[in-house]
Amino acid sequence: MIDVKTLTIQEANQMLANNEITCVELTQACIDAIESNESEINAFVTTTFDLALEKASKIDQEIAEGHEVTGVYGIPYSLKDAYVTKGIKTTAGSKILENYVPAYDAAVYKKLDEAGAILLGKTNMDSFGHGSSTENSHFGVTCNPLDTSRVPGGSSGGSGAAVAYGGGLFSIGEDTGGSNRAPASFCGLVGVKPTYGLVSRYGSIAYASSYDTVGPITKTIQDATIVMDVIAGKDDYDATSIESDNDYEKFINKEDSKSKRYKIGVPEEFFQEGIDPEVKKVIEDAIEKYRELGHEIIDINLPYTKYAVAAYYVIGLSETSSNLNRLDGIRYGLDVETDNWEEKITQVRTEGFTPETKRRILIGTYTLSAGFADQYYNKAQKVRELLKDQFQNAFEQVDIILTPTMPVLPPVIGEHDDDPLKMWLMDAYTCSINPVGIPAISLPAGSIGDLSVGMQLIGPMESEKELFNLGMQFQS
Ligand code: GLN
Repeated sequence: MIDVKTLTIQEANQMLANNEITCVELTQACIDAIESNESEINAFVTTTFDLALEKASKIDQEIAEGHEVTGVYGIPYSLKDAYVTKGIKTTAGSKILENYVPAYDAAVYKKLDEAGAILLGKTNMDSFGHGSSTENSHFGVTCNPLDTSRVPGGSSGGSGAAVAYGGGLFSIGEDTGGSNRAPASFCGLVGVKPTYGLVSRYGSIAYASSYDTVGPITKTIQDATIVMDVIAGKDDYDATSIESDNDYEKFINKEDSKSKRYKIGVPEEFFQEGIDPEVKKVIEDAIEKYRELGHEIIDINLPYTKYAVAAYYVIGLSETSSNLNRLDGIRYGLDVETDNWEEKITQVRTEGFTPETKRRILIGTYTLSAGFADQYYNKAQKVRELLKDQFQNAFEQVDIILTPTMPVLPPVIGEHDDDPLKMWLMDAYTCSINPVGIPAISLPAGSIGDLSVGMQLIGPMESEKELFNLGMQFQS
């Protein structure tokens, strides 16, 4: 029996290489986990089991012929339904794209496919990334495998839930304001928001183009480095992408790295009102552990944090209102029979978008409109510059900043139904990072009963190796 719920990529690599399991057996074990969990959890919108098994048997043959087993080769995984996959339905969690079958592949999918990873299916998400709980999907809510009465976080909640119950050994999510870190925190996993541009966004269905990042959700830091080694780097199809030397895994396993000690900044603003005292305690214990390991803990201030949520949403919703203009029922997506164009576009968009997406399009159109843009959009961009300065100054004092990932434990499903603003405030600690472009990861800091609490490590641009290294020191 393969216990895919706890199995890591690293362990699976060894088992495949030593012929202890076949790739077909591994893939089948993940499929079995999906089949037995899905009625309760609902992590997947689409599954691709036939394709997966076909590829797995091809890989078994290659291994028998001496193919090297490294990285994601032969590893089953899932992909957030925000990435286009040629010939495989891609919905972005929405009704408007319910039957959309793309004609090309997203860069991240292509890279993984070429490296031998095995796609099990596309995971559920808040429609167009709009949310922190995966309750805003056209395909129903995803439940948290640690406690099915609660949300898994979002918007990559299907990805988090799938990894947590063993529906693949990792998942690729998308993080615009916390969408990989929130599910990681709520499902007891590692979630990566890389430096803006480090992983190509080509073929990702945009939420807010200047925030969107592509990254993995895994069980361990080591696994996250394995996936990053495959997916990071420059892509000619994404002009905002940047170079990367892709030796994340090697770096964290070097002796020098293991003995490296850091100056860790702890910002007062992330431990004030609104934080659950139990969550706070878990994070404070984690900080103590770092102190015992010999790291220097330094109290810092990030005073502009109080404007971050407002600036994040003004810019993010402005961008999403613009990005979603292309969904007009004419070129692709939902279509309805009407006499004229105006009626068609009205009906398609009224029926095709969730209430949350419509709320966001309305706000974003308003904040961008002539007469209001100065007051909202342009002002938010100024706040964004202040946030960048603030982090830059902080990183002159410390190497890495440590905060809770989420201020609360996962809410019970439906808890925020009458109060969308409360949901927006839930990711105050994660969404202040994306406007700045810097990387952040979430890793399990401890637990409260069955529930997990995540801590967030934040670093300067392209400091992923150091973040993984510091995270790894905690995990080992
Ligand atoms: N919860 C945040 C939002 O709704 C972040 C979502 C995301 O990262 N896609 O905007």
